[in-house]
Amino acid sequence: MKWGVIETFFLDMDGTLLDLAYDNYFWHEHIPNLYSKIEKTTFAEAKIILEGMYMEKKSTIEWYSINYWSNILNINLKSEILNTKDKISVLPNTIEFLKTLKKNQINTVLITNCPREMLNIKITQSKLWGYFNKIISSHDYGYAKETENFWNILNKNIIYNKEKTFFIDDNENVLKFAEKNGIKNLISINYPDSKKEKQIVENYTSINNVSCFSKKFIR
Ligand SMILES: [Mg+2]
Repeated sequence: MKWGVIETFFLDMDGTLLDLAYDNYFWHEHIPNLYSKIEKTTFAEAKIILEGMYMEKKSTIEWYSINYWSNILNINLKSEILNTKDKISVLPNTIEFLKTLKKNQINTVLITNCPREMLNIKITQSKLWGYFNKIISSHDYGYAKETENFWNILNKNIIYNKEKTFFIDDNENVLKFAEKNGIKNLISINYPDSKKEKQIVENYTSINNVSCFSKKFIR
């Protein structure tokens, strides 16, 4: 395949371009730690309570909302993101990959479940501004990417050819909804979190990280 046949690239952010190790640290260590201090419990207890609360909201727009969790937990999450922003980092060779898309004039669209306030901090911190033709946060639409509603609204908002569009996302559940929506070229990521083992991708082609895309698909 030649670059020329790809018109549009949809890219997820966390776990695809950015190291998911930050999000895992933030939600599963940093916040439980703060919560344990506020509630005067142990870290282990705080973690059990929070993991239960997270589980209940999994795959909903609230799970990804920092306003929602700020209110529920009574913690200013935006300032906590700013306090921990030094831990935000890109996965291997992300910038080179984005430069290649730009050089080949591919319409590059970031599609993320990350809310705008957090997204702005992450993109600034990782110096990713300037590589996207458009940035879509699912919070703009009110539905997470792993819903049919999200894709229906996206289809009304942007023009793209589903046959000539590639989408890389580390979440198979998101890819499933993209597939239902008719996108043909779907790819997952083997190592979304640099601190964890390889994730098992069952239903989609997967690559170690975005920089492996060219080697695998471009001739
Ligand atoms: Mg992701």
